Amino acid sequence: MPAMEFFQSQHITEDNENGIKEILTYVNFNRTRNLSVILFSLNVIFLFIDYINKVKGLWVIDDNYKYLFYSHLVLGLVTLLYSLVYYRITDSSASDITILQKSYAIIFVSFILSLSAIISGWIDQKIHGQITVYVIICITIAVVYNYKPKIIAFLYGLSWVAFMILVTIGQKDSNIRQGHYLNASLLVVISYFLSTVLYKLKIQELMHKYYLENIVTERTKELQIANDLLTREIFEHKRAEEEILRLDRLNLIGKMAASISHEVRNPMTTVKGFLQLLKIKQDSRDKEYFDLMIEELDRANCILSEFLSISRTKSTMHGWHNLNDIVTSTLPLIQADALNNDKSLLVELNNVPDLQLDIQEIRQLLLNLVRNGFEAMSSGGQLKIRTFSSNREVTLGISDEGSGIEQDILEELGTPFFTTKEQGTGLGLAVCYGIVSRHNGRISVETSPKGTTFYVNFELSK
Ligand code: ADP
Ligand code: MG
Repeated sequence: MPAMEFFQSQHITEDNENGIKEILTYVNFNRTRNLSVILFSLNVIFLFIDYINKVKGLWVIDDNYKYLFYSHLVLGLVTLLYSLVYYRITDSSASDITILQKSYAIIFVSFILSLSAIISGWIDQKIHGQITVYVIICITIAVVYNYKPKIIAFLYGLSWVAFMILVTIGQKDSNIRQGHYLNASLLVVISYFLSTVLYKLKIQELMHKYYLENIVTERTKELQIANDLLTREIFEHKRAEEEILRLDRLNLIGKMAASISHEVRNPMTTVKGFLQLLKIKQDSRDKEYFDLMIEELDRANCILSEFLSISRTKSTMHGWHNLNDIVTSTLPLIQADALNNDKSLLVELNNVPDLQLDIQEIRQLLLNLVRNGFEAMSSGGQLKIRTFSSNREVTLGISDEGSGIEQDILEELGTPFFTTKEQGTGLGLAVCYGIVSRHNGRISVETSPKGTTFYVNFELSK
């Protein structure tokens, strides 16, 4: 049978084998219930025929009619008992159901086979000269039950022995006796083969089922993996698109800034110069106004400088520097800032490899992020500066203990002039994004109501 070989050559796991056993036990168990109900119903007809036989007076003529009635009585009681017991067993817990189910079904089969062997071998063949009952039951058992060939051989063998003994004792006519011997033996052999073939087909069907199930599981797993990959790629793609959009905005504004800032700065320098001159000539009364004007001009100049630095697109000369050195050299400035703002500072510098960096720009980046961190916290808060590296990148982390950044603000970070502060310029982060993109790096933000961390990742060149 090529199909059989095909499925056997497939990998059927131990789980599958146990599954097949369980299914077969379950099928045998349920069929016993059905068979007992059917036989009980049929038996009502048999008993009715027995009654008619009695009325006709056959019981007096031949004792065997009486025995037939008794055997029907036994059949009726046992099948009734089996129908009732079924519901008790199904109530029991799942762990001990298997052994109960097994014995429930096997005992029934051996009972039915033995009873039919007795009816045919002892009673029926004497009344009608037939062994029909035994034939019907043997074939029925072969078709209905899925038992291993060993068990089937045992059950048929048992009933066959009973049949043989009863015929030997009961049948005086040696010709008829020989005929029954032969018929019963043939019957048992044929039933055995029928049963075995059907059993193998059933096993094959179940194996096929598991084979298909295994394939489906495998394919589903593969699809799941593919799906995960795709989702990740879509996510990456979206992130890249956002990044491009941000850089585009920077670029456009940068170009405008470059042309305008230059034009505005020149007249401002002139105005500042004259203000300084006038300040000397004026009364001390108005002096503070001049100071204020000059201060404001300085502030405007600072904003313009920052603005200009966004526009720088060509990368400046990058020498090899260590990030830790740049942080350390900027630290005094940051510490003064912390002191002024009543904030504390924690610095954790781990060994990191050198990178191609523009010192001025990295210092600017650090100051901008640190300043935002200080501004996000109320006094007493602690700011943490960390550097660390993996084998793919070097990371600068700046964490504050502020109240975090809302989602809609998060999406706007880095957009020039976007600020939530009254005195803010909204240029700090735009400058940072510009600097980091010129260094082929990446900024990521982690935020929660307990604080925010800005990570700046610099790729290690391979
Ligand atoms: P500015 O500081 O002048 O407002 P930035 O570009 O530096 O401009 O920052 C833009 C906005 O991003 C800030 O107004 C603030 O709302 C938000 N932001 C930046 N850093 C932080 C931070 N560490 N915690 C909370 N919000 C922040
Ligand atoms: Mg800022």
